Formats: sequence, structure tokens, C-alpha cells
Amino acid sequence: MAPRPLRTAEDLAEAGLVPPDAVPALRDVSRRYSVALTPHVAALAAREPAVARQYVPDAAELKTAPHELDDPTADAPFSPVKGVVHRYPDRALLKPLLACPVYCRFCFRREAVGPDGGLLSEAELDAALEWFATKPEIREVILTGGDPLMLSPRRLGAMLARLAALPHVETLRIHTRVPVADPARISPALLAALMLEKPLYLCVHANHASEFTPDSFPTLRALHGTGAVLLGQSVLLRGVNDSEEALEALFRAMLRHRVKPYYLHQLDPAPGTARFHVPEEEGLALLRALRGRVTGLAWPSYVREAPAGGGKYPLGMKGFDKAADAGRTPPHGWAHSSVGRAADS
Ligand code: SF4
Repeated sequence: MAPRPLRTAEDLAEAGLVPPDAVPALRDVSRRYSVALTPHVAALAAREPAVARQYVPDAAELKTAPHELDDPTADAPFSPVKGVVHRYPDRALLKPLLACPVYCRFCFRREAVGPDGGLLSEAELDAALEWFATKPEIREVILTGGDPLMLSPRRLGAMLARLAALPHVETLRIHTRVPVADPARISPALLAALMLEKPLYLCVHANHASEFTPDSFPTLRALHGTGAVLLGQSVLLRGVNDSEEALEALFRAMLRHRVKPYYLHQLDPAPGTARFHVPEEEGLALLRALRGRVTGLAWPSYVREAPAGGGKYPLGMKGFDKAADAGRTPPHGWAHSSVGRAADS
């Protein structure tokens, strides 16, 4: 029988990833936040603590620190129709589903993502695509979720083709964990779905060099072969990549796999994630230490998501913080939506 994903505290104990006496507490965590480790990630987690830390739940997740927020990026007010988040004038997010191959313990959407939720119905997807069709100012569509590469190739391909056919849409972007979390999912049919005439940017999320395994090279090479530009996105995480050595190894691993490091994110204050927090000053010092030591190609923008929907801004650059922290008003008086949140732009 093919190995199956680990989804419960009992699964984790059986795989030797948590001690048996931790099961009752972790059962409580898994009732609140989704848990999943693909067989690929479970095998990696068994030998690499920096991978286990990203995916294996911890009882501390049920403690919310005073500064943590259910909706840390305040995206909900920027959702004009279900599945769409429009924060910036020239680009908008489309969230076709909220399922992921794995559930990261530091995720800023942890209150929303899960295996059962968020797949837009045909009618909802139609409405979302129609919204894009009527917005000539949108030049870039960013597919996120959840993980868009969890969609069937047929559904994903049809969605991309419809978006790419809009004359005003110049580029498409997909944010995904699949290439490093479930490389077997990158099938010939999925690769075919990603072949577009218009430029496609594939933003691969990875936080530790060991997430790039021998499977990753052919996988990322095949993705690159579709014509997509591969970008890397990471979060600065305590106990995962909070050292010069770990960041250097991560960015170099990305480059070796044709992935250009794009963003290093400051952790968003989602509930129960305090154990991953690294202060901004420490992050800036780490990046300063890497300056001159690694090629400029390995250099991501270190960014933070401002509260109140202020959007992303680069850390360590004077002037951006004040503008972003002032917040942003949803255009056109959009009504508050319960769709959820996402801000990968
Ligand atoms: S949305 Fe991204 S960060 Fe959040 S659980 Fe899914 S793969 Fe992880």
C-alpha cells in the first residue's frame, strides 16, 4: 500500500515524530488547526529537525500571545467577491481553494486553510473570473490559497487559460509549496497546464535547504521547462533558518535549483506562532552579514506585512514603514467579506 499523509496526532506518534505521551495535547491542537505531512515531508522530518519544526504541531499553538491576530494581514475587507483579494491597484489574488499538501505551523492563514475547505464552486469561480474580466487595471493575477497546485490539472489549466486570455492581464503568478512538499504531484498533465503564452511566475515556498532533495532537481527543472520563471519565498523562522549559515544554504540551494530568492518574510503574528518569531533587528543583522558573502542573485527582499491591510514593505529601507503602517482603505467602499484572507502580492 502506498504511504499516506500523516494527519493526526496518532499518525505522528506512529511515525516516531512525537512521543506517545504528547498525543492527547496534540489531538487538541489538530482539532483547531489542520495537520498534514505528505510521505515525502514525513521522511524528511524524521531526519531533519528544521523540517519537522515547520510541520509537526506543538501544544504551544493553543496559546495566543497578546500581539497575535486571527487575521494578521487584514485582507478580508479587500475582498470584492468570494475568492478574490484586491489590495493594490495593478494586481489581485485569486484563491481557488484553501487546501494545501502540508499545513505549516506558522501559516498566517491557519484559521482558514484545511483539507475540507475553500474550493470555489463552479459558480463562485465564474464570478471571480468575471470580476477579473471587468477590471482592466489588473495586470497581474496571483493564484494562492491554499495551494493552487492541489487543483486537478484540468481545472487549473482551464482557470489559467481563461485568465491569460484577458487582454489586460500581462502576467500570472502561482504561490505553491507542492514542488518541495509533494514533488510526485508534478505530473506531465500538471506541467502541460502550466504552459502558457503569457509569462507565468511560480513562487516556490521553502524555508530550509534540506527541503531541496534529490527529487527536487528534476521537479524544478521540469517546472522551469514549462517556461515559468521560478521565484523563492521563505519566512524567517526561529529554529528553522535563523542563522547566517541556514539562510545562506537555503538561498544557495534555491539558486542551484533555478529558483531566484524573491521574498524573505518577517513572520506574520498569526495565533499560536510565537515560538517562530525572530525580531526584525535580528533578521536585518542576518541579512547584513550575508551581504558580500553571497551573490546578489541569492539576495531576497526582506519584507513585512503591515497591519490594517497596509500591505508588504521592505524592511531596512527608510520611509516605507510609515506609509504602510498608516494602513490602507479598501477602494470603492467594498463591503467587509467573510471570504478569508491572503496577501501574497
Ligand atoms: S497556505 Fe502556505 S504556509 Fe499556509 S499551510 Fe498552506 S502551504 Fe503552508
